[in-house]
Formats: sequence, C-alpha cells, structure tokens
Amino acid sequence: MKNPRLEVDLCKIRHNAQTLVGRLTPRGLGITAVTKAVCGNPAIARAMLEGGAVGLAEARLRNVRRLREAGLTCAVTLIRTPMLSEAAEVVRLCETSFNSDLRVISALSAEFCPRRPAHGIILMVEMGDLREGILPEELGALALRVRALPGVVLQGIGANFACFGGQAPEPAIMMALSDIVVETERTCGVILQTVSGDNSANLPWAMGAAPTGRITDLRLGEAILLGLEPVSGDRIAGLHTDAITLVAEVIEAGFKSLPSRAAKATASGRRIRPSRTTRLILALGVQDTDVQGLVMPVGATFVGPTSGHLVVVTQNALPRPGGEMRFQLNYSALMRAMAAPDVETVLRCDRPPTDASYAVADPVLAQH
Ligand SMILES: *Cc1c(COP(=O)(O)O)cnc(C)c1O
Repeated sequence: MKNPRLEVDLCKIRHNAQTLVGRLTPRGLGITAVTKAVCGNPAIARAMLEGGAVGLAEARLRNVRRLREAGLTCAVTLIRTPMLSEAAEVVRLCETSFNSDLRVISALSAEFCPRRPAHGIILMVEMGDLREGILPEELGALALRVRALPGVVLQGIGANFACFGGQAPEPAIMMALSDIVVETERTCGVILQTVSGDNSANLPWAMGAAPTGRITDLRLGEAILLGLEPVSGDRIAGLHTDAITLVAEVIEAGFKSLPSRAAKATASGRRIRPSRTTRLILALGVQDTDVQGLVMPVGATFVGPTSGHLVVVTQNALPRPGGEMRFQLNYSALMRAMAAPDVETVLRCDRPPTDASYAVADPVLAQH
C-alpha cells in the first residue's frame, strides 16, 4: 500500500454524524457538515450526509468543485466569506454563502441568473470572536439593504466563537445571538430560515440544558471527523476518535548514540547510560502534516521532524524498514495531511452496513 497514507473509516464517520444528529435533533438543531479539513473529499462528505447532516459547508471553492464533480447535489454553504474576485463561481457552485460586506453581496447579486434560485445570504454577526462579522448595531441596516437586492435572499444569521478571538459560546452569548435574530426579523419583517450557531466548540452548549433559542443549525467538522471537543480536547462520549489514522513507513531503524551531546553531559558531571531505545526514521515530515499534532503510539516518543522525515524513539519491538507506524492526529495535522500531495487517502467501509451489524462490533458504542 502507498505511504504515507490516511486511512478513513467511513462507517465511523457515518456513526459519529448519526450520533450527533441523534443528540441535537431533539434540541431543535440541525447539523451542517464541514468538509474543509478533508478538502471536500466526496466519499467522506457522503458519509456525513448519510449520517443525517442536512447539508455541507466548505471554506474553499476548489473543494466545492470537487464535491460537485463527484455528483453531490446537496446544499453547500461557503463558510469563508467570499472573495470579491470569486463571486461568479460562488453563485454557480453554492446555494448559500456567509457574508459580512455589502460590496461582496452586491457582486453576488449582480451574478443573478433567472434560471437559478436566488443565492442565500447568511450575514455573519460579530459576537466577540473578532474575525469576520458585522457589528450587531449595524446588522439591521445591512439586512435591509440585502433584502432590497435582486438575485440574493436574506437566508439567515451566523456567528463564530472560539475560532480566532477565543470568545467561548456561553449560554448568555447564545441567548444574545437569539435576541439579535429576533430584532433583525422585526426590522426586516421576515422570518429568518437559518441561524447558524457555530462549530464543534459549541457542542457543550448544544448538548447541555440551556435553551437553544432561535439557533437552528451547527456547523460541525472536527466533532464528526475526530470525535473530539475542540476547546477541551476531550473525546465526545459515544463517538469514534479513530475514524482517521495517518500511516507512515519506517525508512531506518536502529540504535544511535549521540556523541556530542553525550560528551557535553559527561563534562557537566552527569553520566549518560547508553539508551536501549530504538530510533526510527519515518518518511513523513513537515511538508506532509502538522507533526506537532500527531499522537504518538504507546511506547513511542516524538524527537523531531525535518521537511521529509520524522524521528521517533520507541521501546517497542524493532520495526524494520518497510514497516509502518500508525498515528491518530489532531485537526490541524488532519487538514494539512489531507491537502499534502504525497499523502494518499484510503477509504474503508465505503458501503454503509446495517446499523445493527456495526454496533455490535463497536467497542466504543458498547461502552456507552
Ligand atoms: C472550520 C469552520 C467550522 C467548523 O469547525 P469545526 O471545529 O471543524 O467544527 C465552522 N464554521 C466556520 C466558519 C469554519 O471556518
């Protein structure tokens, strides 16, 4: 098999999406699955939809093109506010986009084509994250301008938390967002269809007891793909945290003494015992992933990377060149590996099995 490679278990992705949908539906929240970390991989996107996600969200048009070319016809929302220079393609490829600038929205409006439904505009409101977003006091006026433009429809309001500025999505802030929605609806005389809460960082709020108010939707990537809650790093009960594994190949294995460092240590009076650990060199480097985001296998310790190598020490049995080492990875390591040209993606469990047959074989499920 080709190395390095990402092994993606689509059953586990499906299960994670399904479990989250099962928990959030009773709270009145839909899930829009975010595919940016997997570069719009169509099979992974399908697994998320099969798990019950109501639509997909992407940050980059190249990835949306990939989804469309694979035949996906579901609703796609562009969640990175569009570049002015890409307006024409945004309305051609995406049903909806997040926006915070009237010039860009006007450009989207100008691309109006009578054969297409109007492009949905979700206005991003600044709630303390300090990335994109309109100040709450300016939202009503902008919403009215959008309502007056042809070819676009004011579909809703969205917000970011814990993305850039780090404002956590606390219940009081979520309530404030609900109030802003009600106020904007009153100003514009419309009912907004979509109120997009936030990302995986919002899950503690979403799965808690606080009222969900006017929030209709969460955008989830990390939680579905990795089963982790981004702010705490905790695993989410009942979800697989090993749906995606990065595999790298050993290109050198052996014992290695470090003469200069050993000599230094001896000069300072400390005695260095020859270490019995094995030093491995793997064909995986900073050009392939965020090496700091790799979770070392039990018994292995990260030493350092170069552009194309990873040096690891291990107490485990000596793997030979040609042997493999498997890593779990965080979101940053995942998105870099997915985008790296030398990392293959290998899909497992491409066909959905019956739920029952899968649940029995699933130790995580049995635990909960
Ligand atoms: C990446 C992103 C998300 C998804 O975040 P996760 O942590 O993967 O759930 C949601 N919204 C926006 C605007 C994003 O850029």
